[in-house]
Amino acid sequence: MRAVIKFGGSCLTRPDDLRRAVAWAKALEPPVVLVVSALNGVTENLIHAAEGALHGGVDVSWLRARHLEAVETLEDAPRVKSRLEALFSELERCLLGIQYLADLSPRTRDRVMGFGEKLSAVILSEHLSACGLPTRMLSDSEAGIFTDARHGNASILDSASEAVVGIFTESVYYVVTGFIGRSPRGDLTTLGRGGSDYTASYLAAAFKCPLTLVKDVACVITADPKLVPQAVGIERLHYLDALELSHYGLKAVQEKSL
Ligand code: ASP
Ligand code: MG
Repeated sequence: MRAVIKFGGSCLTRPDDLRRAVAWAKALEPPVVLVVSALNGVTENLIHAAEGALHGGVDVSWLRARHLEAVETLEDAPRVKSRLEALFSELERCLLGIQYLADLSPRTRDRVMGFGEKLSAVILSEHLSACGLPTRMLSDSEAGIFTDARHGNASILDSASEAVVGIFTESVYYVVTGFIGRSPRGDLTTLGRGGSDYTASYLAAAFKCPLTLVKDVACVITADPKLVPQAVGIERLHYLDALELSHYGLKAVQEKSL
C-alpha cells in the first residue's frame, strides 16, 4: 500500500470538494486507501433521526436530498442513485423498527449512525469510477475493521491488522468507510465521534505506509477559528503534546487515532 488518505466530511460536501478529492486521488499511484467520513453534519442528523423515531417521527427525506445532490453531476446518475436509494430504504426500515418497538439500544443507535459513512463512500467511489479510476469500495468488516462490542466507542482489535493486509491486494483505489466496524457477534459498531481518523491511522499502521488526514483546516491551530478569528496554525507539534491536547478535546485529531 502506498498511502492512506482520509477525507473529512467537509472535504466531500460540495461538488468542488468532490472534484478536489478526485484530483488528490488521481495524483497518487494505486494501490491507495481513501477513508471517508460522513458528509458534514450527517452523523449528528442521524442521531437526531434515531431519537426522533423513538418519539414517533420517521423521515429520511433530508438525507436523500443532501446525498442525491452530491451525485447530480455524474453521467450515470440513475445507477448511482439506486445504490443510494437502497441505503435510504434500509435506514428507513431501521427507523421504523425503533418507532415500532419504542426502543433505541446502543447497538441500534450504532446501526443508524453508520449510514453516513456508507453513503459518502458510495458517493466518492462513484466519482472516482466516473473518472475512469479502478475503484473498490469496502465497508467495515469487508475492510477488516473488526472491533470489540463497546457500542458507541468501540476499539479495533489488534488481531484485525493481519486480516487487513490480506484484503487489500489489488492495485486499485480503495474507498473505505471510516468510523464503523463489526463486533465479534457481527453487529455494526462505531468507533467514537471523529472515529474516521482512527480507521485511517489503524490502516496506515497495518500497512506501515504514510497517512494524510485531509481536513477543512490546513494544520492544528491555536483555537477554533469560528470562535477566535485571529487563531494561527501550529506548524510542528510534538506527539505527546498532540496526545494531551486530543485527550482534552482537540477536535483536529481523535485521541484513539494518535
Ligand atoms: N462521522 C463521524 C462523526 O461525525 C466520524 C468522523 O467524522 O470521523 O463523528
Ligand atoms: Mg463527522
